Amino acid sequence: MMHFTSTWDVIVVGAGHAGIEAALIAARRGLNVAIFTIKLEAIGRMSCNPSIGGPAKGHLAREVDAMGGEMGRAADLSGIHYRMLNRSKGPAVWAPRAQNDREAYHRLMREALEAQSGLQIIEATITELIIHEGRVCGVLSQIGREYYAPTVIIASGTFLRGKIHVGKISYSGGRSGEPSADDLSLHLGALGLSVQRFKTGTPPRVDLRSLDYSCLEEQPGDDDPQGFSYYRDIALQNRVSCYLTHTTPETSRIIQANILESALYSGIITGIGPRYCPSIEDKIVKFPQRDSHHIFIEPEGVNTHEAYVNGISTSLPPHIQEQIVHSIPGMEQATILRYAYAIEYDYVNPSEIDASLACKKLPGLYFAGQINGTSGYEEAAAQGLIAGINAGLYLEGKEPLVLSRSNSYMGVLIDDLVTSGTNEPYRMFTSRAEYRLLLRQDNADERLMPIAHKLGLVSQQRWQRFSQMLQLKAAELERLKSSNCIARGDVKEPIKFSQLLRRPEISFANLAEYGYTAPPELSKDIQNRIEIEIKYEGYLVRMQEEIIRFNQAENLVIPPDTDFFGIPSIAWEAREKLAKIKPRSIGQAMRIPGVNYSDSSALMIWLRKNPSGKADE
Ligand SMILES: Cc1cc2nc3c(=O)[nH]c(=O)nc-3n(C[C@H](O)[C@H](O)[C@H](O)COP(=O)(O)OP(=O)(O)OC[C@H]3O[C@@H](n4cnc5c(N)ncnc54)[C@H](O)[C@@H]3O)c2cc1C
Repeated sequence: MMHFTSTWDVIVVGAGHAGIEAALIAARRGLNVAIFTIKLEAIGRMSCNPSIGGPAKGHLAREVDAMGGEMGRAADLSGIHYRMLNRSKGPAVWAPRAQNDREAYHRLMREALEAQSGLQIIEATITELIIHEGRVCGVLSQIGREYYAPTVIIASGTFLRGKIHVGKISYSGGRSGEPSADDLSLHLGALGLSVQRFKTGTPPRVDLRSLDYSCLEEQPGDDDPQGFSYYRDIALQNRVSCYLTHTTPETSRIIQANILESALYSGIITGIGPRYCPSIEDKIVKFPQRDSHHIFIEPEGVNTHEAYVNGISTSLPPHIQEQIVHSIPGMEQATILRYAYAIEYDYVNPSEIDASLACKKLPGLYFAGQINGTSGYEEAAAQGLIAGINAGLYLEGKEPLVLSRSNSYMGVLIDDLVTSGTNEPYRMFTSRAEYRLLLRQDNADERLMPIAHKLGLVSQQRWQRFSQMLQLKAAELERLKSSNCIARGDVKEPIKFSQLLRRPEISFANLAEYGYTAPPELSKDIQNRIEIEIKYEGYLVRMQEEIIRFNQAENLVIPPDTDFFGIPSIAWEAREKLAKIKPRSIGQAMRIPGVNYSDSSALMIWLRKNPSGKADE
């Protein structure tokens, strides 16, 4: 029988996308974990769109899966519509996206937490950290119960001093139907942490039965659905269609005529919103020349008639929302099931954390997810996973896991946050990654599973299948590079299959016409990886060379207690920035805005003379 005490190794505050990954990964590494949520019924709730993936987010979801996380599995088991986005573009930006059954996703996540040994779920609102001798040692709940652990991960999402806005009406709330967590936010501020304010928003939901489908363009899922989890054999099935429509000049007119009714434009909301996920009033005001914007109607599940209206996030009052919805083709008679709203919330400035997601001021404390200024389920899950791993490594007295910009989007995400900070809700884009042709969605397992395996996060069965895949791929690549095709059509003389495959008009499937027989166990997935590696070989080799140069600066480690103010050859502004960010390496120091090339060279020279990071040695 499982026995729980009220003392744990790790306490996780929040059972959203970040908290779930943090708690599961820590428990899977053998730690005793307690996870807190304000509402048990809302574990793993998708606050906004019931969808996982999309550009860069699909990459992150696959990386989380490769590292032993839960998101990919839950997304595949609850998927109802799958599309590989950007297929007409280069492979770096292909992006798997799934529409998910909202209820099923939540249920799967709750079940995963409940099934995990060494993990206890507790419904309680945490109001304070318990601190002893400058270290975190537990948390206090709203009803006065104390819980102890040497590490605490806060993953509280949009709940910190959350305030919901609909038109001129605003009230406190963590998201629709759930209370905010005000005390914890005030407590973090009182501890001297920099707490700031962002906002986000969500569109209305409509009843699918009230739509006129003759005016909507059906968007079926792909014939070959692609999910997120590696080596799990989950059967993927498209079970619904999505639909495309658009706003009209009448939509724009309604919004312009009522713009001052919007919480955003009447000055009620002061927090900064996500530039790349703007509200419909933002789109109309900022792009007045466009008389139409795409709207996607996305079912919320298979046992509901509710649909998410992607593209009209708004904080306008309900009667204006109705006018907007009814101005859109196919939705003239639509019934609104839930109204749109905007939410303002507190986040902790990511300059407070280091690359392991640990709080610089309070040992034992970690932050993950929306609280670090990010937006999005996948961004949150990635951070939760890393925070969970690092809380464990900290307890074991080991070096933290810091992924690199050169091996993962997770590395890019965390490096961006802790090095440059963010002045708007941060979401991931493929353009943020310098090495994106290497950081593809198809090869997240190759990039990260070996790291996860070393940490004991990959089951024997998955590791075996991964290793078999690598062997098969390497053998087939070798065969394609060493054996000749037959001459045919434009190919006047036999050439190596790899040279043939390099031609833009030739795909793996065409090779058979030139005498190639694939071994029966060579899956479509491996064929795809081989094709990309051969077609883009030149670019990939050049990128690997760049990474070697990049890693030289990354490997020049800066001691944690370096006295940056004591380095006279560095500009004062740069010293301030360095002292605040505390970079781990010269490479990271070079990326800090305000630290220029001469500052980082001077730092390097100074560290050669003062390797401990202290002057006068
Ligand atoms: C209205 C709205 C619209 C959004 N729109 C978008 C969008 O368009 N695009 C996008 O990418 N993202 C959007 N998001 C953000 C997305 O939902 C989050 O990025 C994601 O859910 C963050 O995951 P998380 O784990 O950090 O937090 P959440 O998923 O918010 O989970 C937070 C968890 O913390 C718990 N919690 C909080 N405080 C306490 C406490 N004091 N004690 C105990 N438990 C606590 C809660 O109960 C919950 O379990 C939106 C969110 C909202 C609310």
